[in-house]
Amino acid sequence: AAKDAGRSGFAFYRKEMTEQAALSMERDRDLRRGFEKDELRLHYQPQVELATGAIIGVEALIRWQHPIHGLCGANDVVPVAEKSRLIMELGDWVLREACWQARAWQEAGLPPLRMAVNVSARQMQPDRLPNVVRQILDSTGLDPALLEIEITESTLQDSERCVATLHALKALGVSLAIDDFGTGYSCLGSLKSLPIDRIKIDRSFVQDIPHDRNDEAIAEAIIAMAHKLNMVAIAEGIETEEQRAFLRARGCEEGQGYLYARPMTADAVAALLRDQQRGTDLRDAVSAGGAT
Ligand code: C2E
Ligand code: MG
Ligand code: MG
Ligand code: MG
Repeated sequence: AAKDAGRSGFAFYRKEMTEQAALSMERDRDLRRGFEKDELRLHYQPQVELATGAIIGVEALIRWQHPIHGLCGANDVVPVAEKSRLIMELGDWVLREACWQARAWQEAGLPPLRMAVNVSARQMQPDRLPNVVRQILDSTGLDPALLEIEITESTLQDSERCVATLHALKALGVSLAIDDFGTGYSCLGSLKSLPIDRIKIDRSFVQDIPHDRNDEAIAEAIIAMAHKLNMVAIAEGIETEEQRAFLRARGCEEGQGYLYARPMTADAVAALLRDQQRGTDLRDAVSAGGAT
């Protein structure tokens, strides 16, 4: 009986595998189709200075306007693209679109904004990514200082290739941020030798402030470490006034999260910036339009 169970278990497992593989191929094909049909979009989430609430930058986040499933989030796109070389093409497109948009806002008379772009581990190739970025900066005319590349802390482990890419990017004059900090088990010692400008405290440490003493301690320690290393601390996923107050009191300079604004269309960002130019407080002006 045990043998039978084992055998049917194995058969079941095989069937699952095949279904999984078919599903994954189907997703890959659909994403390629969507990419070619221009169904991908960037939404932008404002990043603010915690002391004033002023918008100082945005993070570009990918979305998929799917003909059947509607607006899909980054988690329906990035993991699929990362399984193949598609992430390279898609990553180039994200960089180009984001830099183009940053220039378009400036040309429309809005104040210069930092544009943060997420980059996957597979894109961290020293002989490729810096060239792509340089070419995009040249063709869009965006000030390199306004572009920030975000890599996750787990990508950092990818050692030499990644370190070389970071230095080459930095040499272009762009700034660099470590995303999801605190979740990636990076070697802290290696941080001090990397040209990192900003550390993003992962949302998981922010969401339970002020109820979880341990998360508070971790957030506080990350802020202190960032400052000792001459880096700026930015918190992700700020949803409540208590979280903002706690982080600000600990010296965290910047933040982003639903308390301030959700990721939104480029037009909605422009409207928000115009409100800011007119002196309206961001939290009174949360836009209804195009938020995700
Ligand atoms: P991330 O870079 O850590 O981005 C922050 C995520 O948190 C975004 O999810 C954002 O919508 C969400 N978020 C922001 N504020 C709040 C908040 O107050 N509460 C909650 N609950 N969530 C908040 P999203 O857009 O689904 O993106 C997920 C991840 O996908 C990103 O995490 C990033 O790692 C990746 N990603 C997004 N766009 C790109 C891209 O263009 N290229 C690459 N390589 N990865 C991307
Ligand atoms: Mg990010
Ligand atoms: Mg993050
Ligand atoms: Mg995160």
